Amino acid sequence: MIPESFIQDLLARIAVEDVVGRYVQLRKGGANLLGLCPFHKEKTPSFTVSPSKQFYHCFGCGAHGNAISFLIEHTGASFPEAVHTLAAEVGLTVPQRSQTPAQREASQRRKTQQTHFEALLQKAHDFYRQQLRQHPPAIEYLKQRGLSGQVAARFQLGWSGNGRQALAQVMSDYGDPALVEAGLVVEAQDGRRYDRFRERITFPIFSHRGQLIGFGGRLIRAGEPKYLNSPDTPLFSKGDELYGLWQARQGLRQEGCVLVVEGYMDVVALAQHGMNNAVATLGTATTQEHLRKLMRASDRIIFCFDADNAGRQAAWRALTTSLPMLRDDVALRFLFLPQGHDPDSYCQDEGIDAFREQLQSAQALSAYMLEELARRHPLEEAEGRAACVHEAAPLLVALPDTVIKTQLLQEFATLVRLTPEELNARLASVAQPVRPGPTSVHTGGQHQESPPPQKMSPHRGRVPTARQARGVTPMAKRLLRLLLAYPEVVESVGDQQLEILMVSPHLELVRDLIILANTCGARHTGALLEALDPESDLAPVLTALATELLTQEELPDPYAEWKDALTRIELNAIKAEQSALIQAGLRDETSKQRYQQLTRQLAQLDPANRRVSS
Ligand SMILES: [Zn+2]
Repeated sequence: MIPESFIQDLLARIAVEDVVGRYVQLRKGGANLLGLCPFHKEKTPSFTVSPSKQFYHCFGCGAHGNAISFLIEHTGASFPEAVHTLAAEVGLTVPQRSQTPAQREASQRRKTQQTHFEALLQKAHDFYRQQLRQHPPAIEYLKQRGLSGQVAARFQLGWSGNGRQALAQVMSDYGDPALVEAGLVVEAQDGRRYDRFRERITFPIFSHRGQLIGFGGRLIRAGEPKYLNSPDTPLFSKGDELYGLWQARQGLRQEGCVLVVEGYMDVVALAQHGMNNAVATLGTATTQEHLRKLMRASDRIIFCFDADNAGRQAAWRALTTSLPMLRDDVALRFLFLPQGHDPDSYCQDEGIDAFREQLQSAQALSAYMLEELARRHPLEEAEGRAACVHEAAPLLVALPDTVIKTQLLQEFATLVRLTPEELNARLASVAQPVRPGPTSVHTGGQHQESPPPQKMSPHRGRVPTARQARGVTPMAKRLLRLLLAYPEVVESVGDQQLEILMVSPHLELVRDLIILANTCGARHTGALLEALDPESDLAPVLTALATELLTQEELPDPYAEWKDALTRIELNAIKAEQSALIQAGLRDETSKQRYQQLTRQLAQLDPANRRVSS
């Protein structure tokens, strides 16, 4: 583990604008620097870097963080790698991690295992590709499907071979348990082993960074299952990956949108027709992780499903999964091909131009959602409309606060013949679900290398959600904002002020932040966020506030502001106690004395009150 103090030391010495500036062209925009976001596609810059706060935020996609998290997100480095890189630049040596021998051993073992898995997959991959060249029926099948050698090479298709243990030809030890764990070999109950992929065209699956992580396989003769994927392994999680995303990098830019189709054969076939922007989920419904990756890849996402029941269901699942993640700057559309068609057959029968026309006419998410709801319920009768509201309410409540939400609510209200107010009242009674964050961006605080992840996948851990700063009073917010922007003001907090904070019920978060700022010694926003525990109550509140900070002017005198805010709190506390005494009637001498004492305190604190009291 890298000590927190070292991280703080490092963050105090490096400049986030320099680190970001190496990858993103930044120009001055007021106190901040602006550039085109490297995490989502945009034409006007909404990526903002604050040199004073040592923090960046994209107002388009919500990516945010400090110099370390930028390197992690942008280059795919691990946390320790990013720290080492930055430390080397400023001539610091990362202190030896004080891991226990057991931890060190476990981490070493994981690394070795990962390297081993990667080597096994690569070996299998090379073998499959070589097999394809030697197996005319497989080549014939691909030709029949209309695939050129060029496209087959582009997707690095292969042939698994026919034998039960074909891989034994290239694996030095077919009994190696890692072959099973990497998903290449299956072990039967009786202990006998055989290749997972047999008699199949192999489709290597790459992570979005181009690392080989698994395979898909398709039978070329009749049989079940027609398609087979690698199981989830330490390298591969099908709920996280999109087939073809790596190969689509260029195509996405050319076409200006990403097309989500049902299977990898669709992806490959579309490439054959000249469309290189298609990706496919791997036999799972669309997940939020898929959507995150898609939203990063393009600001126009078109889901293309078959018009059969399974396709309709998959589309609805994709819609409900995406609702909590909707953004005004990302357009989601749905396309249903005519009954009986998949993208490949459609392109073959009608041509790619007709397919492009279909894409142009894809339904907007809102239109599809309302149409589908209307299809499910008889809206001409009151009961049907009621049932429709019942089904839609949790979906509508899950929508983040966006313009598209406002629009959808208006249209839905009309559909079910409610006024917007009636609909809102209805929705208010539905519990607010926890929303996923806009992007999976590292917010810091997790320096442990250990959380023995079930996965040592290339993706980083999921990050806490940017919940709204709910239930935070304006005063607490003001203090939090000040502390976050100028962590150094904690040094001026006196005992008396601390005492006031301790007794104020609404200032718990402020106390937490003071303690955090004191213990970590952060000197700017980016560093303070790094020290933050992403699981804490503070995390979502501060993340939201940090974004607001970027658009605010620097304060001429943060210390004076801080003192003023604390004074106000003290004043309010005194006034509250005075009101309580008056309410009680000031009956005895003690309460009268106390009242006078408070009046004197008031006068000391606030000159405006002096005149009143004298
Ligand atoms: Zn962005």
